[in-house]
Amino acid sequence: MPYGLSYAGAGSDYDGADAFILGIPYDRTSSFKAGAREAPAHIRRASYGFEEIHFEHGLGLPGISVFDQGDCEAPFLPEDMMGEVKFFMAPAVRDGKFTVAIGGEHSVNIPIIQCFKKSDVALITIDAHLDSRDEYLGTRYSHACVTRRAAEHLGIDNVFSLGVRSISREELERDDVIPHVTSFEIRETGMERAVRSALDHVRSERVYLSLDIDGIDPAYAPGTGTPEPFGLDPLDVKKAINIIGDRLIGFDVTEVCPPADPSGITSVLAARLINEALAVRSKSLG
Ligand code: MN
Ligand code: MN
Repeated sequence: MPYGLSYAGAGSDYDGADAFILGIPYDRTSSFKAGAREAPAHIRRASYGFEEIHFEHGLGLPGISVFDQGDCEAPFLPEDMMGEVKFFMAPAVRDGKFTVAIGGEHSVNIPIIQCFKKSDVALITIDAHLDSRDEYLGTRYSHACVTRRAAEHLGIDNVFSLGVRSISREELERDDVIPHVTSFEIRETGMERAVRSALDHVRSERVYLSLDIDGIDPAYAPGTGTPEPFGLDPLDVKKAINIIGDRLIGFDVTEVCPPADPSGITSVLAARLINEALAVRSKSLG
């Protein structure tokens, strides 16, 4: 990594790495509270706070060889940010790396998904919001448009959202509503059932999981730009990563906002869930 601290245990070079980490410190479309640009540094720092084994997985951390690219540039315009992300992410996707992106706001997921071939992967999001607007505040590449852009690239039968509990009228009053399970349903019938329905629904075998940290209840993840009550339990998110299991081929965590997280607990949770995704990938490599 060229500058600063790399992710804990990311000691591999690019060629030898099974997993590729990219920080994307971008928050220019944030609608409520900016600050997600600071998250990659905070989450990397938090990654040093854990024991060196996952005793429950029977693995040393990080479990697989990891290369940390560091952060890409974060230019002002979303189109420019997307070009930066693709510059680093497209080769990693092409080379079959397990990609882990650390946002930044959720809009950073849009160029990542476009690095995959059309319909080549399914996107499952964990998010309080459906993020399915055609356009928001003058751009089609806002963090409020993530699943809509993904549906255009992957097919609407290849996108699914979990933990949603805040949806606008314009997102619901249309024929092509993004398939989703609410946090209320997950509370009643369990995460396992929700993830199984997502996995049954999507057409592609390979799954990219995008975690907008506001999908988790603000009691556990207060440090985010648009907190929304009645969210998911972090252990249910851990469970979701494990149920996706062998089908998981990429992961991102977005919308952590360190200025809204004075205790740092939201960054700690984000790092722990990155570690979980790396462990699950490690086990699927065998
Ligand atoms: Mn959200
Ligand atoms: Mn989102």
